[in-house]
Amino acid sequence: MKLKQLMDDFITLAIQSGGWMELDRLYLRNKLLMMIGGHTPDSDYEAVYDSTSADSLADSLVAYAVEMGYSNEQSSKSYLKSQLLDLLAPPPSVVNAFFAQHYSKSSEEATNYFYELNKRNHYIYTPQVGKKEHYETPYGEFVIQTLEDEKAGKSRAIDGFSTANLTEYPKCTYCFENEGYGEEGSAALPTRRLIRMNVGGESWGFQFSDWEEYKEKFFISSEAHRGLMKNKDSIARIAQLLDIFPQYFILLSPEKAKEHSYYEGGRESFPIAAAAVRTYIELKEFPLMNVGSLDWPFPVIRLQSPNVEDIIEGSDYILQKWQQCYGEKLSVEPMIIGRKKKNLYEIDLLLTSGKQPNEERATAEYLGRHSLSPVNGKKSIVENQLSEKVLEEYVAMLKSWTPFGMDQQIGENEAIDDFLHRLE
Ligand SMILES: [Zn+2]
Repeated sequence: MKLKQLMDDFITLAIQSGGWMELDRLYLRNKLLMMIGGHTPDSDYEAVYDSTSADSLADSLVAYAVEMGYSNEQSSKSYLKSQLLDLLAPPPSVVNAFFAQHYSKSSEEATNYFYELNKRNHYIYTPQVGKKEHYETPYGEFVIQTLEDEKAGKSRAIDGFSTANLTEYPKCTYCFENEGYGEEGSAALPTRRLIRMNVGGESWGFQFSDWEEYKEKFFISSEAHRGLMKNKDSIARIAQLLDIFPQYFILLSPEKAKEHSYYEGGRESFPIAAAAVRTYIELKEFPLMNVGSLDWPFPVIRLQSPNVEDIIEGSDYILQKWQQCYGEKLSVEPMIIGRKKKNLYEIDLLLTSGKQPNEERATAEYLGRHSLSPVNGKKSIVENQLSEKVLEEYVAMLKSWTPFGMDQQIGENEAIDDFLHRLE
């Protein structure tokens, strides 16, 4: 195809995204010409591409730019490509308006729209899974998988921790000021868009993770760059977010949110969600609430109630007791997961130890899904089969996160039961 056709096909996709109108076609063509270093669209340049794929179109435009003298360096080419793909994402005001329009029909329709947009402009990168196995364990069915493209993830802001190239601006990867921000050689992507939300009278922003560690992984961060104060309000916010997005689970990891307060979540149902309750207790103050400890390699307490006040008060009560009993010995605060099951609010309190800093672990590792990267996976994968040994090692790792390891005198189950009965 000739250059003019290539540009026209790309512009058609940009208009279809909703950010531009037919009247903008000429303007966009000239803008593209400037970006790729061309002088006229009437070039004899022969481009080969798939007109239905934004990726293929952008790659062809970058190839033309290189032909015209643009740097052939990989980082420069990626930067130009992300700028081109940015034209396929409407500006934030338009995205927010579309999101609100879809939300008026259903929450799921709104997140579907936003997810598809982020996939189309290549903001979301989904790592390729190689082998995926389900294993029966005493705790339910665990998942072990291999990732095939660790490399692709390294150049991106994996889970928000790749701050290597971030300077004073933006302050951190959860800051609003990342929206539309891109810099050559940086992990920041100009295609980032935020959905503005009012949560409990405060301004928060919803965005998908650029590294889709699990299905539709997202972050909801505060507009202010400030650490999370873990208190009853931060637990109440989980319930508020579940009301806004009942199709998702919401997770708070206080350790990760120390610099900038944020929650994460997604659509995947992890093994922990199906874990059985081992011991139930009754809390005098909350007679209608289900409370118990889970059959899980490290202690987890589950609360269930249709009453949102009970869930918030009950979680806060247990976490305060936990702090009183073990706060001095533990350096890691419990993670909290919220999900909605029909009209029930369900909260899991993950009482892990401080031995494994949460920052270094992918969320899924806590929830029953273990991923092996090509680097550490090679050792364990024999003839492309995941061995039982990998499962054993994984369960042993989860068990080592128990906070009761510090007191070898008492068994794991006895220790958590002892704590539960102290709550009654
Ligand atoms: Zn920040």
